[in-house]
Amino acid sequence: MTSAPAYCPHCGTVLVERQREGRSRRFCPECEWVVYRNPDPAAGVLVVRDDPPSVLLVKRSSPPATGAWSLPAGYLEWDEPAPQGAVRELREETGLSVDAEDISLLATRLRPGANGGYTLVVVYVTSADAVSGTLAAGSDAAAVRYFESTELESTTLEPDYRAVFEEAIETVAGPDDQGAGGSPS
Ligand SMILES: [Zn+2]
Repeated sequence: MTSAPAYCPHCGTVLVERQREGRSRRFCPECEWVVYRNPDPAAGVLVVRDDPPSVLLVKRSSPPATGAWSLPAGYLEWDEPAPQGAVRELREETGLSVDAEDISLLATRLRPGANGGYTLVVVYVTSADAVSGTLAAGSDAAAVRYFESTELESTTLEPDYRAVFEEAIETVAGPDDQGAGGSPS
């Protein structure tokens, strides 16, 4: 969903703000249509390997966060389940294939997007052992490579994702003892 519409898509009347379910929502005074805004769903897969413990990231070549490293991910098609979309995006951006049955839910992120909307990113994780194909940067990726935990702090990452990447690495490496007693990164 992008920015809230100014006119009713059904009758063209100028929308007004109304309180509905405790939130201010746009409302058509003519046909009583209510604008419910929702985040756009996206999904991606973090591939982790254990020798050395590291996570596969792609360098973004399109907004948001162009030039930053992040997970291979993208928007779901309207009728596409999240695991299938995540697997498709992994293949398109990295050349790697994995069965949707071999990925596990790791985290979600709500990211501000263009046009004043939000994107809900569903993040899966899988082992490099479950993956096949030849690693190569594809669409929407300027580069692709594995990162160890110690490299993440000196790398430009998409904001708000570092803890997710660390968490992915921990699924094969166990918690990093550098972080013991510290605040979550
Ligand atoms: Zn209307």
